[in-house]
Amino acid sequence: MDNRINVTRSSMPLLDEYVEEIRGLWDSHWLTNAGSKHEELRQKLKDYMGVGHLELFTNGHMAIELSLAALGLDHGEVITSPFTFVSTTHAIVRSGLTPVFCDIDPADYTIDASKIEELITDKTVAILPVHVYGNICRIEEIQDIASRYGIKVIYDAAHTFGETYKGKGIGNFGDVSCFSFHATKVYNTIEGGAATYNDPDLDAKLAQIRDFGIVDEEKISYVGPNAKMHEFSAAMGICNLRHVDDEIKKRAKVSQRYRERLEGIKGIQLNALQPDVRSNHAYFPVVFDEEVFGASRDKVFDILNKHNIGARKYFYPITTALDCYKDRFDPNKTPVALQISKKILTLPIYADLPVEDVDRICEVIISG
Ligand SMILES: *Cc1c(COP(=O)(O)O)cnc(C)c1O
Repeated sequence: MDNRINVTRSSMPLLDEYVEEIRGLWDSHWLTNAGSKHEELRQKLKDYMGVGHLELFTNGHMAIELSLAALGLDHGEVITSPFTFVSTTHAIVRSGLTPVFCDIDPADYTIDASKIEELITDKTVAILPVHVYGNICRIEEIQDIASRYGIKVIYDAAHTFGETYKGKGIGNFGDVSCFSFHATKVYNTIEGGAATYNDPDLDAKLAQIRDFGIVDEEKISYVGPNAKMHEFSAAMGICNLRHVDDEIKKRAKVSQRYRERLEGIKGIQLNALQPDVRSNHAYFPVVFDEEVFGASRDKVFDILNKHNIGARKYFYPITTALDCYKDRFDPNKTPVALQISKKILTLPIYADLPVEDVDRICEVIISG
């Protein structure tokens, strides 16, 4: 299966560049626990993302869980979207919180801000929306609701590395924004993640919580896991950061080509372009309306697969329909999310995906 086109392909620096970056570790023998690479990456990411405060983690999931913990959220209800990667819902449930699912906007698949307020009860402690596919949520509306009710906002910003909204780094909104640097994301540290925020008190809290709750050798104040990023991941992050702008530019070209080929075809809905957003072109989701297009999402998926093209049914099922949540949540309560999850397909996109491959993918979709 040499010529298979996968849905994504991890970005890597040249081997020599990485080797140069890690060489010093053989002198220092300092491999983890906020080493020099970790601190260098932290500073560089703050600059690149234009945020005041940032903490690094082993992965994006721990960034979400430990941000909830650092904000003191350990019981009550959290309003969130079921149209996401399972991590978002798991983070809420694993933290002892109760997710309350809000439906999504059919235009950009983010949480439908007009339906949030009716879900608020006296138990609501936070809203945890997802900037899904890199599409930005209704930030002002969400903040307005949160401020009026005195509740927190934690963004799952796993898909939005490098994005800006109205010229500001996307990590500046809400109480905390959580990013994933997983190998399959636009920017990676192999595995990794970060939380960004404005409250300086969270610096020490997050650093302690992600290190077993250790304050100092004799004082342990919190029951925390181990979620520290190590030096080899940080070094990968430093290398990949040098190239990420280039990679995003190349992704934009792939995305543009898809649009040229698929725009205007009846029964195909492309991702809406958002004003005021600098996009990172993380994903290329397409919604198929079977009656108009003539083939279902599942049919298109199978045909692409036969041609050795790996699209993904992302996000299907929605998290409320997953096995582990079967008897707990009801997917029918968010009918728009449920419907879209059955019609959506994300097409292959990565920086070095050749234009000829994009054309071939579109050809297969159009002619079946
Ligand atoms: C990838 C992802 C996460 C989890 O990030 P990891 O780094 O894989 O732990 C959380 N939410 C969303 C929406 C994601 O896509």
